[in-house]
Amino acid sequence: MERTFIAIKPDGVQRGLISEIISRFEQKGFKLVAIKIVVPSKDFAKKHYHDLKERPFFNGLCDFLSSGPVFAMVWEGEGVIKYGRKLIGATDPQKSEPGTIRGDLAVVVGRNIIHGSDGPETAKDEIGLWFKPEELV
Ligand code: ATP
Ligand code: MG
Repeated sequence: MERTFIAIKPDGVQRGLISEIISRFEQKGFKLVAIKIVVPSKDFAKKHYHDLKERPFFNGLCDFLSSGPVFAMVWEGEGVIKYGRKLIGATDPQKSEPGTIRGDLAVVVGRNIIHGSDGPETAKDEIGLWFKPEELV
């Protein structure tokens, strides 16, 4: 069954949005198969966002991801990669539709509270980066 990596970033954890975000994925009908809360090192954050290393905001983004606890999850279900991104909403919360997580709960792109894998390859890579196989049920 299809799986995706979803992480509540330090702003989402700090703002107390963990249960709200879990609820949205649960109510849709997706299944939670792994969780952990961790403060990633900056090196780990760079690995997670390696695709963006040429972007001007890369350093600040990695500093931010490693600035506090991240609530990391793996969700399972038919179409969960694409539909998970739909639940999350557009990268820039100013462009996210109301009804999406970022549309309802965030305002600026640098504090958009949640990450979701953008395709099957990144989902596989990100799940492997954040979790050991035995941590998934
Ligand atoms: P994520 O990978 O976090 O799920 P995304 O796939 O919607 O987000 P990406 O293009 O992968 O968007 O960007 C990764 C993250 O980098 C964004 O979630 C955002 O926090 C940050 N980011 C993207 N564009 C900008 C920008 N122009 N300025 C500052 N931060 C940005
Ligand atoms: Mg992305």
